[in-house]
Amino acid sequence: MKKYRCWAEIDMGALERNLGRIRAALPPHMQYVAVVKADAYGHGMPRMVTRLMQSGASMFAVANVYEAAELREIGRGWPILVLGPVLPEEEDHLAEYELTATVSTAEEVSRLSAAGERARTRLPVHMVIDTGMGRLGVWHEQVVELYRQIMDSPHLRLAGIFTHFASADTDPDFTGLQSRRFLQALKSLPDLDTRPLLIHAHNSAGLETLSPDSPFNAVRVGLLQFGCLPSPNSILASLKPEPVLGFHTRIGIIKHLPAGTGISYGQTFHLQRDSRLGVITAGYGDGLPTTASNRAQVIIQGKRCPVLGRVTMDQTIVDLTDNPEAAPGDKVTLIGRQGDESIDVQEFSNWADCVPWEAFCSITKRVPRLYRTSREI
Ligand SMILES: *Cc1c(COP(=O)(O)O)cnc(C)c1O
Repeated sequence: MKKYRCWAEIDMGALERNLGRIRAALPPHMQYVAVVKADAYGHGMPRMVTRLMQSGASMFAVANVYEAAELREIGRGWPILVLGPVLPEEEDHLAEYELTATVSTAEEVSRLSAAGERARTRLPVHMVIDTGMGRLGVWHEQVVELYRQIMDSPHLRLAGIFTHFASADTDPDFTGLQSRRFLQALKSLPDLDTRPLLIHAHNSAGLETLSPDSPFNAVRVGLLQFGCLPSPNSILASLKPEPVLGFHTRIGIIKHLPAGTGISYGQTFHLQRDSRLGVITAGYGDGLPTTASNRAQVIIQGKRCPVLGRVTMDQTIVDLTDNPEAAPGDKVTLIGRQGDESIDVQEFSNWADCVPWEAFCSITKRVPRLYRTSREI
């Protein structure tokens, strides 16, 4: 195998098994919308999408029309939902790539309606309801007007209605309130026939509170399918999701420095003892953020080693004093397993002071993604 300096290993089998486990836990009528925005959370969109298509995803969701166009290249026949707003001048891509847009405002409805007219079609749209996040969506007490505007347009077709939970991983009470507001808003829509519609709200964390008798008939899953729990104590742990991504680098050089030496830019750490140091070939230019300076750990020769001093763009210094076997060229695991030790993306993101979604998205394009179909990687 060709050797790399810093790479991500993506376990295709784990992705498929995760999807299978999530689907098996859902009521059978639930459609699975696979969220693959931001290059499938840094895992590489085309490969992830191809595997998800073969493994039972019903539909895909991305952030914008450009991600959607790239996804459409992979195959027709799967609906693609564009979660973010379509900017003026992007509207014509909707018909071109057979996309489904989301709408929150009257202004969007008129623009998309005009685009539908230009394309001589009815563009499918999902109406977004803001039930308390304050981001996209029409405020839940003002849905009727927007709904009427969509229904009255001969160039739009209402294909779904959804909301987004703001705190599903931290605040079940607020999520419950959002859910009730959503159901109330649906009830207020005159002559609403929900049968042809996708009605959805649940993201990964939301799945914790999904009740099988709700009128929801779709879920939108991102993080969990990549094997990461939305919070460390999530009840979704019972699904036993497997991490899909491993993030590794190597030892460049090893050297010895005496106690008292200052380490790296800013000299934020001074050696407490005579030390054996490893300079590993990854830094923030690869996706190990500076916030992880003096905090993160890595695994080398199956043992945890602390990061010393500030993470730099291309290199990071680790303490090998208690790891005498470590040698130049050795594999260094930033996220993943080595022997009995493992670091999951939750732990990594705690060190990096970010959320796991962000840790995935921070792995840069300098890092090649290697796709493995066997479990022995
Ligand atoms: C990103 C996103 C999701 C997926 O969220 P996860 O927490 O990754 O499962 C679902 N819905 C919307 C609107 C999103 O933007």
